[in-house]
Amino acid sequence: MSEFSLHINGQSVAGDNHFDVINPATADVLTQCPAASEAQVNAAVEAAHNAFSSWKKTSLKERQAYLEKIADKIEARKDELAKLLTQEQGKPIAQATSETGFAITRTRFAAGFTPPKHILKDDDTSYVEVVYKPLGVVAAITPWNFPLSLALGKVAMAILAGNTVVLKPSPYTPLTSLMLGEIMDEVLPPGVVNVISGTDEIGPWLTRHPAIEKYTFTGSGPTGKKIGAIAADRLKAFTLELGGNDPAIVLADVDIEETAQKIFWGAFTNSGQICIAIKRLFVHEDIFVPFVSALVKIAQSIKIGDGLDPETQMGPLNNEQQLKIVSELVEDAKAHGAKIHCGGQRIPGPGYFYEPTIVTDIKEGNRLVDEEQFGPALPVMSFKTTEEAIERANGTDFGLGASVWSGNVDEAKRVALELDSGMTWANCRGGATADAPFGGSKSSGFGREGGIWGFEELVEVQTLVVAK
Ligand code: NAD
Repeated sequence: MSEFSLHINGQSVAGDNHFDVINPATADVLTQCPAASEAQVNAAVEAAHNAFSSWKKTSLKERQAYLEKIADKIEARKDELAKLLTQEQGKPIAQATSETGFAITRTRFAAGFTPPKHILKDDDTSYVEVVYKPLGVVAAITPWNFPLSLALGKVAMAILAGNTVVLKPSPYTPLTSLMLGEIMDEVLPPGVVNVISGTDEIGPWLTRHPAIEKYTFTGSGPTGKKIGAIAADRLKAFTLELGGNDPAIVLADVDIEETAQKIFWGAFTNSGQICIAIKRLFVHEDIFVPFVSALVKIAQSIKIGDGLDPETQMGPLNNEQQLKIVSELVEDAKAHGAKIHCGGQRIPGPGYFYEPTIVTDIKEGNRLVDEEQFGPALPVMSFKTTEEAIERANGTDFGLGASVWSGNVDEAKRVALELDSGMTWANCRGGATADAPFGGSKSSGFGREGGIWGFEELVEVQTLVVAK
């Protein structure tokens, strides 16, 4: 029996089955999690479908007030949520606290969001207005790297827009989403937000349900393609936030120590398991050797351990499968002659720990450069000219984020704008913010979350013409 429940139609419901959730810092079973049966997945969608007819008629002000209450409740339980997030995901508690903070920010942003009014014409002959209408039941599917902030990024704006939701977290990190379900049940009318957990088999049960009107998915490219195919077959709207292979270009005029610190944490925060982590580093040949040394020095000085220890700077990988992928990519690099400056292996003992790894003598055509490693192993490559670096940075089918670093801010901005990606940063590497569009170009995604751009993905526009 699990202490966690599914949340269907405003009720806490025991799963028909259950599965183990592993604490990645110890590899021990953290708890058992309810696994929804197909009938329970259907019940969740039907609850959302039934709730839609009255929820869509609530006023914007009412929905904003509900969202404020949700944000307050999350805030009141933020320490509990952050601790649970570290236990299920592995990230250091400071990062889990910051993710919880961002989840609250996103909820408050939605609570304060008023869609713009578009009156195209209002004269003696006619009145023309474009109005936003909710779509219906939204299937929100999230991955295991930022389960809490990604869930709120989808759910908060979806319900503000007047939709109802079925949220399905990753089987690796379902617990914070189930706790969120508990909070939603305390605040919202039954069925407006439903949360179901289970192993990967429940994904298709959810996505194939005929009452789903919109898919909002964050995860890997291969799963994104499957969801896009179902959405296309059903002619329903979809937003896909997929993987990245973000380049960072370091020009010769940077302050080496200061920039290396920022680049290091841009690559190794959350053990590199961030869609917009720096995953390919291009450093100008004039500073290549000292820059690599600076990165290695940081890698060798950080404290790695259980994220619940407040001293920990880097936790484990989230799961054994991901640890295997990272190990495989580093072994492949070694086999192809790459130089491992530090790290390069799993840390012995329990838990899914891997040493922070800096790799040189590697280039495009190697798996560690071409694929998304999603882990603490960074390939560092040198370049001669800025134009060469831009071409190589863009020479991939990924296009999520990119950054450029220079002592000359105008040059950094010029180069940043040459990079083909959804987000581009000059002398910084940002995360998502609630008000700005976030998403990928090329194969890194389809559509955006955040701000009005995210809102517009969750509504239908209707043209109203009134003859006078
Ligand atoms: P994943 O694709 O394996 O799983 C994501 C979610 O999809 C999980 O909830 C999973 O259970 C579910 N799922 C799996 N098969 C399904 C199916 N057939 N139908 C419906 N749902 C299904 O991804 P992951 O390993 O959890 O996450 C890591 C990936 O997510 C990385 O590629 C990362 O870059 C990407 N990511 C992207 C962003 C972004 O905003 N672009 C943000 C975070 C993570």
